[in-house]
Amino acid sequence: MKYRTFAAALLVAVCASLPIAQAQIDPSINDKIRAEEAANSQVMRTLHFLADVHGPRLTGSPSHKAAAEWAVKTMTGWGMVNGKLEPWDWNKPGWANEFLAVHAVAPFKDALVVEALAWTPGTNGTVKAKAFNLVTPEGPLANPTADPAAAGRGGRGPQRLGPTQAELDAYLASVADKVKGAAVLVGRPAFVAVNLDPPPGRQSDEQVRCRYDEAAANDPACQNLGRGRGGFGGGGGGGRGPQPEGRLTAAQVAEKVDAFLVASKAAFRINDAARPHGQIVAFNNRTYDAATAVPTVVMRNEDYGRIARILADGTPVELEATITNKTYPSGPSFNAVAEIAGSDKRDEVVMAGGHLDSWHSATGATDNAIGCAIMMEAARILKALNVQPRRTIRIALWSGEEEGLLGSLAYVKQHFGSVEKPTPEFAKFNGYLNIDTGTGRLRGASVFGPPEAAKILRDILAPFKDLKVGGAVATSSRATGGTDSTSFNNAGLPGIGFSQDSIEYNSHTHHTNLDTYERVIETDVRDAAVVVAATLYQLAMQEQPLPRFTPDKMPALPAGRGGQ
Ligand SMILES: [Zn+2]
Repeated sequence: MKYRTFAAALLVAVCASLPIAQAQIDPSINDKIRAEEAANSQVMRTLHFLADVHGPRLTGSPSHKAAAEWAVKTMTGWGMVNGKLEPWDWNKPGWANEFLAVHAVAPFKDALVVEALAWTPGTNGTVKAKAFNLVTPEGPLANPTADPAAAGRGGRGPQRLGPTQAELDAYLASVADKVKGAAVLVGRPAFVAVNLDPPPGRQSDEQVRCRYDEAAANDPACQNLGRGRGGFGGGGGGGRGPQPEGRLTAAQVAEKVDAFLVASKAAFRINDAARPHGQIVAFNNRTYDAATAVPTVVMRNEDYGRIARILADGTPVELEATITNKTYPSGPSFNAVAEIAGSDKRDEVVMAGGHLDSWHSATGATDNAIGCAIMMEAARILKALNVQPRRTIRIALWSGEEEGLLGSLAYVKQHFGSVEKPTPEFAKFNGYLNIDTGTGRLRGASVFGPPEAAKILRDILAPFKDLKVGGAVATSSRATGGTDSTSFNNAGLPGIGFSQDSIEYNSHTHHTNLDTYERVIETDVRDAAVVVAATLYQLAMQEQPLPRFTPDKMPALPAGRGGQ
């Protein structure tokens, strides 16, 4: 293997003057990187501090800032330079849950599994309240000819149209007395069917070959195995879509219900987590203003269903809740950065990062403390080897990702502008590597740019076939969505997203109350740090900049979101 790599390197040197994009690889560095990671890995220690000690890291919360400060201090301790928190305009209040307990008092006694909804108020002490299940009216079937057995999103049955304003107003007026002072369960409990066919945690080698190997581009065997699905797209929205004239959307109904619960003085509100096995995903009050909501928790589907079924029998249920939430004044949030200074090309930069912010119901270990820890570890390895990259290597740990890639979008705008409105730094940028899909080993990369950019990455990644890295593909989408590399793509810059084996990310940990240190696979993340360290180093050493779209081939900005 080594000799073949060396021969390839010689060939590259001979061909360097030809206008063919090909990476110049320093083959000796990869063994040193592997040896350093094998002997002195710090990646699980870094994860421990980011997740166990400083998690959760909700944007705007003191624990996020403490995590960012710890990361900068740690990277500085490894010999990195220019470490700092760079403020950006978050301008929303901070929020943190400090205490949370919800119990059933009658007709059964039990502790209930809940998480607080962020940016909602607390209960001001302990409150006892009768439970009431508020189920807003619905319109007729959205698609009367569809298979009635086909469950809609969230297992709530076939999709129905929204109510009219008059139908909703009449219903809310009819239940106002029952809601006053009550614990209001909003919505019918979801039925979550048993999954007898769970998806595999790892991609097969064949899937990875089809997706990332250049030779597989026209292989008929790969037709149904995801060739070209290398990038991040926008996520699908939940709930009802556009409505016919006169019917309310899910968002309009939700807004009305929020205002109704505040006006009717509900004691607290309970949402159904609607997922199996006690999984809870708790996001935010969309206004970020605690005055617009009553105290709100998301309850595991199993507890929610039990209470709703007992209420449906006509038996009263009494609950007790103590919710202590704290808000902090509006202000900036922070991206955490630190660098390894370059030499002759030091004003050019190669970046790597992940989002340090998380949701608040667990410690955000797989989303995305581990992505940050891997990138920090890659830089630590290079510092420990005392190598001198030609370009500057910069690690950036974003905040505001979960609220819409806000930190990375602000950073790109401030530092680089966009292809339409570039700053002087725009021309000096040489790629941004991103990890944000959990603990799984890296299987390939997608780069925003021409095929020549993917070719450079494939050359750099080729020595890591034994770690199951398949290769790289190019993407031309400037749409933002999914994760922070798309903030760079959006500006016309080469964002590079690594794809990972999903492991338990989609099924268990992503955004849930189960996203903890225990769910990280040490061998996978150590391998990932090796691959990232090598990629950063080789990109920093190339004679030519990473190829980009020429102005005439630059894809247009998508309409709507992403036009920043
Ligand atoms: Zn994430």
